[in-house]
Amino acid sequence: MTFIHQVWQAKKRISSLVKRTPLIQSPALSEQMNANVYLKLENLHDIGAFKIRGAANKILSLSQEEQQRGVTTFSTGNHGLAVAYVAKQIGIQAVICISSRVPKAKVDAIKHWGAQIEIVGESQDEAGIYCEKLQDDHGMTVIQPFDDPYVIAGQGTIGLELLEDLPNLNSVIIPLSGGGLLAGIGLSLKTNNPGIDVYGVSMERSPVMVESLKTGKPIELKEQETLADSLLGGIGLDNKYTFGLVQNYMDKAFLVSEESIAKAMAYMLEKHRMVIEGASATGIAALAEKIRIKPGSTSVIIISGQNVDLDAHIKAVTPYLKNSQVI
Ligand SMILES: *Cc1c(COP(=O)(O)O)cnc(C)c1O
Repeated sequence: MTFIHQVWQAKKRISSLVKRTPLIQSPALSEQMNANVYLKLENLHDIGAFKIRGAANKILSLSQEEQQRGVTTFSTGNHGLAVAYVAKQIGIQAVICISSRVPKAKVDAIKHWGAQIEIVGESQDEAGIYCEKLQDDHGMTVIQPFDDPYVIAGQGTIGLELLEDLPNLNSVIIPLSGGGLLAGIGLSLKTNNPGIDVYGVSMERSPVMVESLKTGKPIELKEQETLADSLLGGIGLDNKYTFGLVQNYMDKAFLVSEESIAKAMAYMLEKHRMVIEGASATGIAALAEKIRIKPGSTSVIIISGQNVDLDAHIKAVTPYLKNSQVI
C-alpha cells in the first residue's frame, strides 16, 4: 500500500473523533501580498492543535488487545494532550510520562483529559526511557509524536481537506519541527499535484530539521528558549521516516526571528481576533518577511495550534499591537 492510500484510510478512520477544520481567507494578508492567502485553522480542534489527527489515526489502528493494554507517551506538549484526549474518547488507559521539571499548567491540562501522569526523573530522556519500560513490561504502546507512518498519515488528512476546499492551490506554508505535519501534508498535496510549492518554517533558535537537512543526516542541537516552544525537540538521530519525507517533499525552508513571531501573534489578534501560539505564528511571520509568493496566486498558511499561556501571549504581543479598534 502506498503512503497516499494510508492518508485516505486515515481520513475515514479518524472521522468520528476529529472535526474538519475551517479554511478562511485572510483579507489583510491577501491585500498585503496581492494574492489569495488562506488560513487553515488547526487551532480550532478540541485540544487546540492538529496533533489530534495523528494520535487518533495511530491509536485507532491498534488492535483491540493492544488498545486494552493502553498507550503511553513522553510528550508534555500538544502531542501529550492529543494522546490523552483520544484515549479518553475511546475509553482506554493513557499514561503520560513526564519529568519533574514540567510546569504545573501543562500537567493540569493533561490531567484535564483524564490521563494518568507518571513523574519520572529530571529530564525528557528519563521520561522516554520509562515509557519504553511500560511498553516492555506491560505491553503498552508508545505513541510517537511524529516519526511513525500512521501519525504522518493522520497529519496528511489536512492536505486532503485543502485539495477539496482549494483545487487551484499554489503553495502551502507549514510550521516545521519533527516534520510529521510537513511530511503528511507534503505527500498528500504533491502526490495529487507536484506543482504545489511546500514551504517549511522553523524558528532561528534551534531549527533541528533544517540544520539536519543541511548536514545531510539527523543531528542534535542544544535547545534555546523560544516563543515557538511547540517546535522544540530533536528529530531523533535514528529518524526513520520524516527526515527523508521532508527532504523529498519540501521545496524550501525559512527561519524566523523571535521578534517576527511575536509580531505575527499580534497580527492574528488584531486582524483575526484570534489567540495563537508562537509555533503556529511562524507561517505568518515567514510570509510577512521572507517568502515571496506570485501575485494573484493562492496560498495557505497552516495555523497549527493555540495552546499558549495567556500571560505569555499578552507579554509577547503587547509591544506590537498597533490598532486595537474594531476594523
Ligand atoms: C507539533 C507542532 C508543530 C510541528 O509539527 P511536527 O510534526 O513536529 O513538525 C507545529 N505547531 C504546533 C502547534 C505543534 O504542536
